[in-house]
Amino acid sequence: MKLIRFGDQGNEQPGVLKDGKRLDTSEFGEDFDQHFYGTDGPARLAQWLEAHESACPIVSDEARLGAPIASPSKIICIGLNYAAHARESGLDIPTTPIIFAKATSAICGPYDDVIIPKNSTKTDWEVELAIVIGKKASYVSEENALDHVAGYVLHNDVSERAFQLEHGGQWVKGKSCDTFAPLGPWVATKDEIKDPNDLRLWLKINGEMLQDSTTADFVFNTQHLVSYLSQYMSLLPGDIISTGTPSGVGLGFDPPRYLKPGDVMELGIDGLGVSKQTAVAYKG
Ligand code: ZN
Repeated sequence: MKLIRFGDQGNEQPGVLKDGKRLDTSEFGEDFDQHFYGTDGPARLAQWLEAHESACPIVSDEARLGAPIASPSKIICIGLNYAAHARESGLDIPTTPIIFAKATSAICGPYDDVIIPKNSTKTDWEVELAIVIGKKASYVSEENALDHVAGYVLHNDVSERAFQLEHGGQWVKGKSCDTFAPLGPWVATKDEIKDPNDLRLWLKINGEMLQDSTTADFVFNTQHLVSYLSQYMSLLPGDIISTGTPSGVGLGFDPPRYLKPGDVMELGIDGLGVSKQTAVAYKG
């Protein structure tokens, strides 16, 4: 199943994408939030659809898509999880996962504009596979980790490199600006993704392919990341774990390439669709 949310910012409604059609499932009565994921929502919704699909209103293709997850309790990101990206960043391949937080207020829809923040000089792109937690995960083994995963979503882990690396302190400052987390177009439930550790992912800037890799190159795979994080915190239903970006980010070029207003980012992952954002200047 492909879960979507559509409508104006802050007023999104839940739906599913089926056979190329967007179906409004608001009659089901639940948004795609912590409660939904924590109570076997995807399975209950699939069952509900068997009886109600034909009565679901069709949503116009013109309608805005929002992030397909409502109010996750947290976004945890993984740094340097591809060897070639660690090299282009001038850093060693990590021996344990590097983790950092991203503010949930950064979340936006898959086709929304990305705002280059005030005082930014180094806004950069990062295509990533993001894991969506289903069942609460606390001290889970690698062997059982996927039982706690509900699905997967495409994420652009937009980053301001000066805020991240030159302003002191932790990376979270360079990762959390408004619109720095375009998610979607949909959450694919895990039955749709045969192997999360073997998916092509790519990103183009103004039509030029700059990132083109596969999650088969992960330093730490999906199961390991869920298990590892769960030793340090409870992962709650609907939480998002972004698994790191492959090489080809702006920081890695010589000279570096950063976003300017009007630049278009287009990115995709096998089975998770394509998203597209235009960079715009901050307007105070
Ligand atoms: Zn990242």
